[in-house]
Amino acid sequence: MEKNKKIAVIGGGIAGLTFALCMEESGFECHVFEKNPEFGELGAAISVFPNAMFVFRELGLMDELVAAGGLLTQAYLKSSSGKVLSKAQPKYVLPAICIHRADFHGILRKHCRAIMNAGHSLEKAEPLPNGQIGVTFANGKTEVFDAVIGAEGIHSPLRELIIGDGKPIFRGYNIWRGVCDSSFDVGYASETYGLGKRVGIVPIKEAKYGWWATFNEEFMKDDSPEGTDKKLSRLFGDWHHPIPELMRNSKQIIKNSLIDRKPKRGWSLGNMVLIGDAAHPTTPNLGQGGCMAVEGAYILSECIKKYGLSKIAYDRYESLHFPRTKSINETSLRMGVVGQLENRVQGFLRNRLIALMPSSVSMKLIDKFFSYDVTSLRI
Ligand SMILES: Cc1cc2nc3c(=O)[nH]c(=O)nc-3n(C[C@H](O)[C@H](O)[C@H](O)COP(=O)(O)OP(=O)(O)OC[C@H]3O[C@@H](n4cnc5c(N)ncnc54)[C@H](O)[C@@H]3O)c2cc1C
Repeated sequence: MEKNKKIAVIGGGIAGLTFALCMEESGFECHVFEKNPEFGELGAAISVFPNAMFVFRELGLMDELVAAGGLLTQAYLKSSSGKVLSKAQPKYVLPAICIHRADFHGILRKHCRAIMNAGHSLEKAEPLPNGQIGVTFANGKTEVFDAVIGAEGIHSPLRELIIGDGKPIFRGYNIWRGVCDSSFDVGYASETYGLGKRVGIVPIKEAKYGWWATFNEEFMKDDSPEGTDKKLSRLFGDWHHPIPELMRNSKQIIKNSLIDRKPKRGWSLGNMVLIGDAAHPTTPNLGQGGCMAVEGAYILSECIKKYGLSKIAYDRYESLHFPRTKSINETSLRMGVVGQLENRVQGFLRNRLIALMPSSVSMKLIDKFFSYDVTSLRI
């Protein structure tokens, strides 16, 4: 086994940090490079499901994450008037939580003992004849590594080099997100369906809620001149409690267009390998993008520990992880299409179907994604 070899992890997000954490004690030297001047995350919530918790339990971080987040014990699906279409009380082996992204990232960062380099934006990665990779950053620094892990998200320059499938695909709707302290207690997570628009609410710790709202409109549509507050009030102002209150009382609201890519194999080239959104970006309809990034980081680290920095390791990682990420990507995409239906009749039928389907059946359909234990895989 090649110890003391140097690995560059490009991107200090969930995938990059989890990979570096999984590689601790392996003998490989991990250097994490983040393009932003500081390591950090957005002011929004993220759901962390048991499939990611299995990895965090193994890393000894599960209890700290659970203490920093809110437990997801009940999920309601509703119509815009507030009529409950379905209620579920998922029973998982490990906790599912909602947590502020900054807290989540902060915990990963705090425990990560890799060599951390902020303000390093990858500009070029060049395979050398001896299998090493020459890496150049926008700040002029150059360095040679034995392997480079592309964890730089959906717009990954390394993906462009390795797979070359161009720009991500816009799926026809945008999303606003916020976090809000509240004076009320909802006590459960919910998703509310309208026509061409939806709202999700997730409980974070101590009367703090994360919310998201989607709407069918053009790519990167600017909210001006109307302004985000007025626009959200126009779109969701008459929706059930506490949707308008949460939107009105959020200090910071982030807006994105929802994009992903068609699942594609071929995640490595020489000693360059993709993980997280760089490898398998997905729409967030299942709340699984980050959780899959955690799973993939774990699998790749285990493959490298067993097979070294080798094609065998990278191919084994891809063969274990690709089918699952493809299935999640495609299911999530379909859920987005159904969730964003604009047609009144189709929307009515969707809501009827949700109301008629026993929650035990719908939970079972997605349980294979949320309850998967990657730590029990035979590497
Ligand atoms: C609206 C929305 C809601 C979501 N909700 C959930 C959820 O509830 N649960 C869940 O599991 N997932 C969720 N996701 C998905 C999740 O956020 C992503 O899958 C996850 O962040 C991917 O992690 P990553 O580390 O692969 O990429 P990123 O989080 O994109 O991190 C990449 C990092 O690389 C850095 N970087 C980029 N380019 C370079 C470069 N050239 N050089 C150096 N560094 C670079 C970036 O600054 C960033 O820090 C959601 C996504 C969206 C859009």
